[in-house]
Amino acid sequence: MEDTWVWHHEVKWIFTVKLAYRLARKFERINIAEGSHRDGRDQDFNWNYIWSAPCPAKIKQFLWRFAHNSLPLRMSIRRRGVDCETCCPVCRRLNEDGGHLFLHCKFVRNVWRTPDMEPEHALLTRCNGPKAMLEHIFSRPTKQKILCIAMLWTRWNVRNKINAGEGVYNLDDVCFRIWRSAIEYEKFFLKQEKLAQPPPTSCSLPDETCLNINIDGSFDAGTRSGGWGFIIRDHQGG
Ligand SMILES: [Zn+2]
Repeated sequence: MEDTWVWHHEVKWIFTVKLAYRLARKFERINIAEGSHRDGRDQDFNWNYIWSAPCPAKIKQFLWRFAHNSLPLRMSIRRRGVDCETCCPVCRRLNEDGGHLFLHCKFVRNVWRTPDMEPEHALLTRCNGPKAMLEHIFSRPTKQKILCIAMLWTRWNVRNKINAGEGVYNLDDVCFRIWRSAIEYEKFFLKQEKLAQPPPTSCSLPDETCLNINIDGSFDAGTRSGGWGFIIRDHQGG
């Protein structure tokens, strides 16, 4: 008889996502009750910070992935078992993880080294992980908050271009893009606040027993290439 995989939590030994989700929720409740949750900050982090941030929806999705440490950084890809190069595509000196890409890379330190941003950089380097970084950013006055968000988003875009072999690093251009984005977001969202209209969220959050799944994709028939993505959120937006 050949060996075969079975799902021992179910009497028929058949895996179902529904039961896996229930088990995950059960184990999470047990861990919380025993005070052994893998990351205590998960329970404290206010996801509404992200969904009400003064920036466009695509950047909120980026921040959500940043908070979950799920951006496709080279070290993260390697940790998932893919045999790939791990050095930073921008400086080509050190391994690329979130701390390096957004805070410590020599090409990003140049950008943080402006009078408005240097104090933020000093505080962010003391944060323990991406959620703590976002908590700091969202605790700042609107101007600094927007500047930090524009900084992270621009850095990620520049990195992706270089990673795809489509660009070279230019400090002046990066700084210009950050400031232009920050001014645009500030204008737009301050105007919204004046009109007493909360920033739009992409969709409402589900109740505690459900997950909300958003999927989107596109396909170019000419190049026969496409892409897709998804976001799964719980009742807290996490
Ligand atoms: Zn680097």
